[in-house]
This record gives sequence, structure tokens and C-alpha cells, in this order.
Amino acid sequence: MKNLAILGSTGSIGRQTLEVVSEHPDRFRVQMICANSSADLLVEQALRFDVKEVVICREDLYDKVRSALPSRIGVHAGADAACALVSAPEVDIVVAAMVGFSGFRPTLAAIDAGKTIALANKETLVAGGSIVMRRAKQRGVAILPVDSEHSAIFQCLRAADGNEAVKLHLTASGGPFREWSAEQMASARKEQALKHPNWVMGAKITIDSATMMNKGLEVIEARWLFDMAPERIHVVVHPESVIHSMVEFSDGAVLAQLGLPDMRLPIQLALSFPERLSLSGERLDFGKLRSMHFYEAQPERFPCLGLAYEALSRGGNIPCAMNAANEAAVAAFLKDEIGFMDIPKTIRKVMDSIPFCADPDTEDLLQTHSEAFRKAREAC
Ligand code: MG
Repeated sequence: MKNLAILGSTGSIGRQTLEVVSEHPDRFRVQMICANSSADLLVEQALRFDVKEVVICREDLYDKVRSALPSRIGVHAGADAACALVSAPEVDIVVAAMVGFSGFRPTLAAIDAGKTIALANKETLVAGGSIVMRRAKQRGVAILPVDSEHSAIFQCLRAADGNEAVKLHLTASGGPFREWSAEQMASARKEQALKHPNWVMGAKITIDSATMMNKGLEVIEARWLFDMAPERIHVVVHPESVIHSMVEFSDGAVLAQLGLPDMRLPIQLALSFPERLSLSGERLDFGKLRSMHFYEAQPERFPCLGLAYEALSRGGNIPCAMNAANEAAVAAFLKDEIGFMDIPKTIRKVMDSIPFCADPDTEDLLQTHSEAFRKAREAC
């Protein structure tokens, strides 16, 4: 029996993590759940899974959550409570599924407490990859990827028998605007950007998929998770989202992991690793699939992809600044304050104006994040 703490339990990954737990109640128990602001769903989840501790990050919602739950369930408010509770001795695995940079501090706290991390929160690695990976190594902590592409690479690398991978091929669906021109995208509305062809996800990551910043963030995530040089990380557009990613070896062999687009698989594997458990649902039917397509990514139409490679090569605090600017710009787009193509323009401005810090510590990154977020807000 493994005890879980779920950061971001009311989001898309959090809800699907709880589905996995429901399928295997003899294997997983939920110790703690944490949400930013979805108080009603948090309460419902706490009762259904009879958790021990609940954290609501927005402190103004504390009374609402406290009054809805019996006294046997501990209720806490604020991000510091989340950092403290992931460190509890009963917790074995922390599912890091918060949105954006807000996951950075709780994930570091969980690593420092020696917990296994099931990582869905890619922004934590984008902003602070060197710190996170160094600390995980020092503490002997395993970081198991939940992101479908990175789970695929992780699975393919298990077959490497100690041979080094020479290239990673990250697949991208291309999002809803795969075939749109730059002019069409300039007038894209949020309703159109929120219609992902293959995956049902939260709003932030869906917009990131439409700009292809999601793939840019994943390139940076792969650089840290697999210690791979950026020039060896290749993005290939694959609209069917059946191949979740691929690994190439020195003899030219390419290993791929395939499956229907269903996030429960990478979530469950991160929780049960190294064991594979049964999973309900449809299976890949090659007779129905019949063909798969592949295209080179086009950074001229999707400038966010190029910005992510640039941030990675400049290093230091620049990926953190890029991520913060993206969070602010996506939030502004979702409030109809800026146009779709203003997202990369805002990020560009912030990346060009943030003071460079070559070897940031945690404090430097927290400062970079808030400064870059503020600059992006001003630019929007
Ligand atoms: Mg992904």
C-alpha cells in the first residue's frame, strides 16, 4: 500500500490520479490533497477518499472547507501548509500536479523530505531544473515523469540496457492551430484555442498547446529529466498523438511508446513503477488507426517553441523568466486582454529585459518569477 499526497487534486491530472486510485484501492491510499481554489470539489474528494489532511491554498476559502468537513480530517490553508504536509512521514509519493510555478516550493519541500515525486508540474523543472535535479540526486529521490512524452521516453530508456541515447524525439499534436497561418492565429479567439483535438486538459496547458509553448516547456523538462543536450532534443509533429515520444540510439534504432491518448496510463505507471497494473478502457486498435503522420515543427508559425530553445541555451534564470511571462500572458489571453500572437511578443519583451543571473538559487528564482510576471503584466 502506497500513501499519496496530491498537489493539485482538483485539476485534470489530480482528478485522473484519483480515478487511478479508485481502480486500485488495494494499492494506493490518499493521505493528503491540496487545491488552489476549487473548494467544493476539494471537499467532495476529501469525503470520498477519506483523506487525513486537506490544504486549500486560498486562505479566504479556509472557513468554507473547514465547516464542510468532519473534525477527523485536518484542514489547512496556504502554500506553506502544502510544503509542510507533503513532508509528513506517512506520505510515500507526492503527485506534483499544481499549475505553473506555484508547484516549485512544495515540490522542493517533498524532495527535501525524501519523497518519491510523480511529476506532472513541468513548470517546476523549467524554472528550476538544475536545483530540483541536484537536490533529488543528493537526497536519492526518484522523479517519475507523468507528462505523457516524458513517461514514453522514460519507458523507452528502460530498454537501453545501459546504452546511451543519442537523440530524443518529442512528439507534438500540433494543437488546434496546426494548419492555421500566422495571420489566422493573430485573430484566434480563446474558444478556438481551448479546443484541443486529442487531449482534454486544463485551460493553461491547452493554451500552451495551441502556442506550442507546451512543447517548448517539455523540451526544457526533457533536458533536465534525462540530462540530454538541447540540440539532441527534436520535436516532431504527430497529429494522432498515438506515439507518445521516441528515443534514438547510436546504431539508428528508434524505440517508441504507443497508446491511445489517456493520461491515466502515465499517471498510474508513475505511481506503481516498476510494476505495471491493469487499466480499464479502450485499447489501441491498429486496424482502426491505419496510418500515422509526421511533420517537422514550424517555429516561424509557433515562435514560442523557438523562445523555449533560446531560453534553454541562455540558461541561468532565463527559463524561469520565460515561464513566468508565459503564465502572465496566457492568463491575460484567457481574460480577452491580449491577442493570441501577443503571447510570444510579451514573452520576448520580458526575456530581453530581465536582469541575467547565471547560477540562481531558490531565492533568486522566486524573485525572477515575480519580477518577470510583473513585467509581463505591464506589457500586456
Ligand atoms: Mg505532454
